[in-house]
Amino acid sequence: MITAEQKPLEEIQQMLAGVDKLLILGCGTCVTVCLAGGEKEVATLADLLRLKGSIDQITEATIERQCDQEFFEEVTRKIEDADAVLSLACGAGVQLLARIFPEKCVYPGVNTRFIGLVEEQGKWLESCLACGDCKLGKFGGVCPIARCSKSLLNGPCGGSIDGKCEVDPETIDCAWQLIYDRLAKLGQLENLTEIEEPNDFSTAHDGRPRRLDRADMHL
Ligand code: SF4
Ligand code: SF4
Repeated sequence: MITAEQKPLEEIQQMLAGVDKLLILGCGTCVTVCLAGGEKEVATLADLLRLKGSIDQITEATIERQCDQEFFEEVTRKIEDADAVLSLACGAGVQLLARIFPEKCVYPGVNTRFIGLVEEQGKWLESCLACGDCKLGKFGGVCPIARCSKSLLNGPCGGSIDGKCEVDPETIDCAWQLIYDRLAKLGQLENLTEIEEPNDFSTAHDGRPRRLDRADMHL
């Protein structure tokens, strides 16, 4: 999932200076799961902004996904009625909103962070850098690029102690310990006998923005 965290209230207030009619628009997918931009967060933020009293009219809505055009239909009226929309979706959702409503001021209410997994209640761990050349099959389902602090592809750096990463032994598991343990359990340690060539980052870094073009899905 894409993780995000809500912007500080002061920053949100500064962005919205001069707005009289505001719609706060939540997203029911990733940002709901990471407690940054779902229905509950929309309601809490709306209450806080009402208490501050600088915006005359605040309405609330949450759609299933802001990165998917079809879900905007149900809130078109609310968006058109507002001076501005504060989106609590990830950066992709905010940009789709701006594209569908080119005349509308849109503002991001969250900072989008990374692709991650829940570690425990309230904690998320970056788990994929969307490198475009996935090697999880060879590494037992543990990503050395995202999970190793040095993104090493051919074994540990030598600084690992008791399965912890030398970069921060308190909080980071050594990815290479995890990879070794997984492959040992799967009986696939031979995966590590061949040198891994550098990752092909060409689809990740060969110009921005990246595109995914599925010709078989074209109309
Ligand atoms: S190898 Fe690349 S695509 Fe696969 S999990 Fe790691 S960063 Fe993501
Ligand atoms: S200790 Fe492990 S996770 Fe940390 S940088 Fe070295 S190999 Fe990577």
